[in-house]
Amino acid sequence: MPPSKMLAWALLLAVQHGVVMPSPVHNSDPQLKAWYQESNAAYFDNKLPDIPIYWEKLPSGVYAETACPLSWPTDGNADLCVIRVSEVFRQRALLPIAVHAVLHESCHVEDHRHARPLDSHGDQWQACMLRLATAGAFKDLW
Ligand SMILES: [Zn+2]
Repeated sequence: MPPSKMLAWALLLAVQHGVVMPSPVHNSDPQLKAWYQESNAAYFDNKLPDIPIYWEKLPSGVYAETACPLSWPTDGNADLCVIRVSEVFRQRALLPIAVHAVLHESCHVEDHRHARPLDSHGDQWQACMLRLATAGAFKDLW
């Protein structure tokens, strides 16, 4: 892949997976926070950091994102990450999609916590999602 194309690809990843500065201090949404903490307790041994998670208007097609500054590649400091979930899924009928998104983003936070190479939905992230699926995290969600 030519360097210019690689850069474009990397920037796309950065936008979609949040290697961008999070917005200023933001309070968590109580419902999203509860789901995140339930996921943390059930599947991550409470090792994910207590980070802001909130609804936000995101670009069309983006369900959610984990944004972490100083993480190119991931730097192991997930404490500075934030999770944003598209407000499109805030309506009652679509809440299961939001729960799914919280689990998805939790695996990204885990990648940041372990300073794994930026591979987006690569092997480590896939392993995390499979672990959650095997543990029943997606029961009633798929
Ligand atoms: Zn993702």
